[in-house]
Amino acid sequence: MRAMRAMRAGDDNDPGSAPRRANADEAALRVEMTGTARRLLELGLVSGTAGNLSCRLDGDHVLVTPSAVPYSELAAEDLVVVDDAGSVVRSRQGRRPTSELALHLAALDAAPEIGAVVHSHAVHATAFATAGQSLPCVLEEMAYYLGGDVPVAEYRLTGTRELAVVAAPHLRERAAVLLANHGLLTVGRDLGEALDMTRLVDRCARIVLAARRLGGERPLPEEAIRELTRGWSERRARGSAAVAP
Ligand SMILES: [Zn+2]
Repeated sequence: MRAMRAMRAGDDNDPGSAPRRANADEAALRVEMTGTARRLLELGLVSGTAGNLSCRLDGDHVLVTPSAVPYSELAAEDLVVVDDAGSVVRSRQGRRPTSELALHLAALDAAPEIGAVVHSHAVHATAFATAGQSLPCVLEEMAYYLGGDVPVAEYRLTGTRELAVVAAPHLRERAAVLLANHGLLTVGRDLGEALDMTRLVDRCARIVLAARRLGGERPLPEEAIRELTRGWSERRARGSAAVAP
């Protein structure tokens, strides 16, 4: 766990990040989600009202960003609580859950360790998604943090249950999936980790694109991929035990 923290994506730019909580009360999570949304905006990973976030509140409830509210104007009270079937439990007047609610609920259900989901239109990752190309596992940190390559889910229209059906299964064995002709979906035990995965995927996408200008990326040895992804699977399994109350 400590080794993973030390190697966390984004630590190089964010050395003062606080330790992550497995659980927190709703008020704290609302503040955290609003801050994460602003961070996505500052990092240029979303623009306007594109992109959305979710995290588990407890076994039956999920906190999600609202539909059609720019992150620059987002307040903690704008966030919406839904139950695990997607029905609204608490919302400020006029606030509806993100139009990608089905996608978020399916992603949260993909593995028991997943506690938070970030959907963005990160430019470099979306370039791969638009080309219909997976992001190959050619960097050690991809194997270590993401569980391998970043696959592309088949195209389905935004906001549909069909999109959730094709995308979520990839998250059983990966921390990220590309949405064809659309964007990126990443998961983590909490919002901070899901955001870190978004930053990592987009940075790796940039590196691969740059490597292709230099003649193309070289493969990471199969043995190294096996070793590093085994560590990822073990950590994910341990995370499951750790977050259980
Ligand atoms: Zn989107």
